[in-house]
Amino acid sequence: MKPRLEEKVSATQTAFEVCVIGGGATGAGCALDAQLRGLKTILLDAGDFASAASSASTKLVHGGVRYLEQAVKNFNLEEYRMVKNALRERLYMLANAPHLAHPAHFLVPVYSWARAAYYLAGMKLYDAVAAESNLFPSRFLSRRETLNRMPGLKSRGLRGAVCYSDGQFDDARYDLALIETFVTAGGSALNYARVSGFERNDDGMLSAATVRDEVSGEMFSVAVKKFVNATGTGADKIRSLANPMLAARMRPSKGVHLLFSAGTFAGRDALLVPHTEDGRVIFALPWQGRLLVGTTDDEVTPATRMVVTKDEAEYLLRQLNPYLESPLRRQQVLSGMAGLRPLVAAAHGKTATSRLIRDHEVELDSSSGLISILGGKWTTHRLMAEDTINAVQREMGVPVTATKTKQHLLAGAVGYDKSFSNDIEKEYSLPADVAQHLTGKFGAAALKILELLKENPSWNRRIAAGLPAIEAEIVFCIRHEMAETVEDILARRTGVQFHGWNEAIEAAPRVAELLAQEKNWGPSRTASAVSEYMRKIYAFLNELSLDEATK
Ligand SMILES: Cc1cc2nc3c(=O)[nH]c(=O)nc-3n(C[C@H](O)[C@H](O)[C@H](O)COP(=O)(O)OP(=O)(O)OC[C@H]3O[C@@H](n4cnc5c(N)ncnc54)[C@H](O)[C@@H]3O)c2cc1C
Repeated sequence: MKPRLEEKVSATQTAFEVCVIGGGATGAGCALDAQLRGLKTILLDAGDFASAASSASTKLVHGGVRYLEQAVKNFNLEEYRMVKNALRERLYMLANAPHLAHPAHFLVPVYSWARAAYYLAGMKLYDAVAAESNLFPSRFLSRRETLNRMPGLKSRGLRGAVCYSDGQFDDARYDLALIETFVTAGGSALNYARVSGFERNDDGMLSAATVRDEVSGEMFSVAVKKFVNATGTGADKIRSLANPMLAARMRPSKGVHLLFSAGTFAGRDALLVPHTEDGRVIFALPWQGRLLVGTTDDEVTPATRMVVTKDEAEYLLRQLNPYLESPLRRQQVLSGMAGLRPLVAAAHGKTATSRLIRDHEVELDSSSGLISILGGKWTTHRLMAEDTINAVQREMGVPVTATKTKQHLLAGAVGYDKSFSNDIEKEYSLPADVAQHLTGKFGAAALKILELLKENPSWNRRIAAGLPAIEAEIVFCIRHEMAETVEDILARRTGVQFHGWNEAIEAAPRVAELLAQEKNWGPSRTASAVSEYMRKIYAFLNELSLDEATK
């Protein structure tokens, strides 16, 4: 990515064909698809890229076994098609960024033979729906094999487990890789650029966006032929700016995750808890050296806050603990995340959010020309983008050309292979964990980070004791990935915050110093960058009554 100020100046001087509003999975996918089809495109996000739902997911590249169960039970063809599409998209997602996404085995433990038969039949159906897109065939594991693979599972009454396949990925970095690929293809991307209004032609069609630079507070304008609204749960606001007559469609639902030490539940496979109090499923997954447990599904109310509450943590533990030999406790939580699903409802629908179909919808508002892409899920972001840009081309009156995103390697994937981590470990005499971390987050672009060590060899220091993230990585994210705040770096670009709130607190002052060096900040701005970040982390710690001493 270019430096932010340079990109902003060029945004005000260029006439774009397409402006994508929102830099989460959906917007990043749309921008890449449009630019690869030759449409001059700009992507604007009000905050940081991937700062909303797109970094708060369960990190599954999946069709959704629960959605398939719902489709079968309710004879719902629409939901069946959604699962089928997602299973096909799963393959594209895994292949286009192998450093960020990989297949995984999921175990569903069973404590009765009737359940074993039910789950095995369900997973065989999942395989059949995936057909040629299937990753590995599902199978039944004996009690002994199950306990070998997942020794922390409650053994009393265990018959075995049904093992099936899906994908896992690094959501925040996948989003950044989509945006980097888009910029490499000639697109312009700007974070902290909030669309706050529109200008119109004489016929009422949107012709420019009024944008607020959330870093400087300045307002500027971007001239565009077609606008795509990909703002997730913010979609209704943009729709009403374009046309105040449009009825609200979004039904956001909150979901939280908790992270524990990986040692609390050893094993390389993911656990699916097949039944919860509210008739859903939850997961406990090995993820980047931690155990990721989630998620909840709660209707958003005016009282909803974007932290993990004690009730939410206790709920997750109540669902998971009956399956564990050693129950987990709230005091063992190392980190957590909260996000809002951008679910879309039929007008006046009363269905519970957990029952809403995770399908997407492309909506055209003919009186303003705004195209909104609503709903969907991470796994289907590419298909959502394809459908959206088809609509953009139709509305522009140009031929609809084929998408180029099905097989398009993302940034970091070109030149990457499985031996990459070992190669750089040897070549640059790196500790193994640092080499694995850099390759796992940046793929082949890890080389660009290591090049920075020529400029300043001391940037090989870790940003906090025991963490694999090094200072050169922070400098790279500031110079080349538009990182503006401590949180941009610790949460989304390096993943330190999701590894542990404690480590994030330890690393924050040094990250702020590096930001200050690179951006010429004075001491007061540097200090406020740290305190602003600490406030956010302490909001989580206080909510769960965790103080630093407990960890
Ligand atoms: C708890 C949870 C678990 C999930 N698990 C999975 C999973 O395992 N697998 C899966 O496939 N999917 C999963 N999902 C769904 C998936 O994460 C979302 O569908 C996806 O991330 C939505 O992306 P988005 O770009 O539409 O929205 P968002 O990521 O919310 O992005 C919208 C962006 O629009 C920007 N924006 C808003 N207003 C403006 C404005 N005025 N101007 C400019 N920008 C603006 C915001 O800053 C934001 O960055 C999960 C979701 C949640 C919440």
